[in-house]
Amino acid sequence: MADIEALKADLAGMKIEDNPAIVKQKSRDFFWYSPVLKRQLEHVTADLVVTPSSEAELIEVMKACHRHKVPVTTRGAGTGNYGQAMPLTGGAVLNLAELNRVVEVKRGAVVAEAGAIMYEMDEQTRGSSGQELRLHPSTYRTATIGGFIAGGSGGVGSIRWGGLRDLGNIVRLKVVTMEAEPRVLEMTGEDIHKVSHAYGTNGVITEVEMPLTLAQDWVDVIVGFDAFMDAARFADQIGNADGLLLKELAAIADPLPHDYFLRHKKFIPSGQNVVALMVAESSLLALKSMIGRSGGTMLYSSDEASDADLKSLPPVYELAWNHTTLRGLRVDPTITYLQVLYPYPDHLARVETMNRMFGDEVPAHLEFVRFDGKITCFGLPIVRFTTEDRLEEIMRLHEENGCPIFNAHRYTLEEGGMKQTDEVQLAFKRDADPDGLLNPGKMIAWEDPDFDFRTGGTFLFPGLQ
Ligand code: FAD
Repeated sequence: MADIEALKADLAGMKIEDNPAIVKQKSRDFFWYSPVLKRQLEHVTADLVVTPSSEAELIEVMKACHRHKVPVTTRGAGTGNYGQAMPLTGGAVLNLAELNRVVEVKRGAVVAEAGAIMYEMDEQTRGSSGQELRLHPSTYRTATIGGFIAGGSGGVGSIRWGGLRDLGNIVRLKVVTMEAEPRVLEMTGEDIHKVSHAYGTNGVITEVEMPLTLAQDWVDVIVGFDAFMDAARFADQIGNADGLLLKELAAIADPLPHDYFLRHKKFIPSGQNVVALMVAESSLLALKSMIGRSGGTMLYSSDEASDADLKSLPPVYELAWNHTTLRGLRVDPTITYLQVLYPYPDHLARVETMNRMFGDEVPAHLEFVRFDGKITCFGLPIVRFTTEDRLEEIMRLHEENGCPIFNAHRYTLEEGGMKQTDEVQLAFKRDADPDGLLNPGKMIAWEDPDFDFRTGGTFLFPGLQ
């Protein structure tokens, strides 16, 4: 039985928060993106939040939680959107906000504590060495590097560098185990996959080493097209243009850009499908000539924007990835979204088929990425939500048409991912968290080894408060 009072006594002198309203706030993430998760997780809260100020303090917290059998859910900035950072059975939220230092900037890599905010890391690496991170989520300005590695997948930069799962995009991780005497492990190479994208279920990342690339002056560009498939084809074409240095490349269908991008609305006429992108200043003239041949219209380019616009407009990456959905939810709280892969080489044909099938019930949003060395696209289409049954049906129809779904309406690792046990992560959990205290309920293979993924049924964690 978890003994919260004994834990508090052991942690006296550390930063602890047990005010129920604040604890609840720190027990939430962006789970409410999904009407399904909203229904299931709305009530979830921890018993307390602990904020260590050093790795040594963090290890003391882990020891004490282990001693008193208190579950621990690690929290970066809480911007995950599948309830990853939510403590399903209560216990302690381990808040990494104060482990946020950049430790070292080298040629080609940065070492930072796991709670460092990615935007702030880039400010430091740009300032001191003219380098920047290869990849960041669209939550760049708020999310932590540890949360990105444990809970995210890729995003801005993926058109050039692929995703976090690609070897080389994370150099090294330092991980603390959940045992009576926690170990501090260094992971490199394929070992990184033991804990990356494991939602903190099998270790706490305390320090990361990430590769850097030459910093660029990125220009935000929005190009308009009358027909969505023309926008998608143009994005595919420039994504494949080897000499063009891009950092972000999205195609978003009418009416989403005009309806949802409120601060850019004056640039985006109704009826326009857009390609929103970030291009290196040195590639801008080449891009402009390609736009000239495409039949598209340059609607916005930050190199020509007024000072007032530059100050007031969000960067293009905050129109992309899950920010498209966030902007949509602000305009119409009844919508939700999907996460789809349109596999190469038929990606555009599959996009067209899905668009034809669903029309305005599922308006398209494509994110072009390098995936296994090929340029293809993920989809984060908006869904005009009616019922959970219809949402399930829409996802099933995608899968039946060769478009795998990464289910954004499930809180477990497996259902949100490959719908099968990750033996590497499971084996590492047995080793590093033998009592199952880290983020309980998120790894089905640990909670219910007999769960049959083939039935398509939803896993319901029995320990859910
Ligand atoms: P949290 O939400 O706090 O945590 C995420 C998961 O990691 C949780 O399971 C948590 O327990 C675990 N965790 C956190 N820190 C550690 C640690 N140090 N050690 C072990 N486990 C840990 N994701 C993308 O991949 N790409 C995107 O472009 C993207 N865009 C987004 C846009 C919006 C508007 C929103 C709401 C979300 C988006 N996301 C995206 C999801 C999310 O923002 C990112 O994955 C983000 O990097 C998570 O960082 P965080 O610090 O908020 O982590």
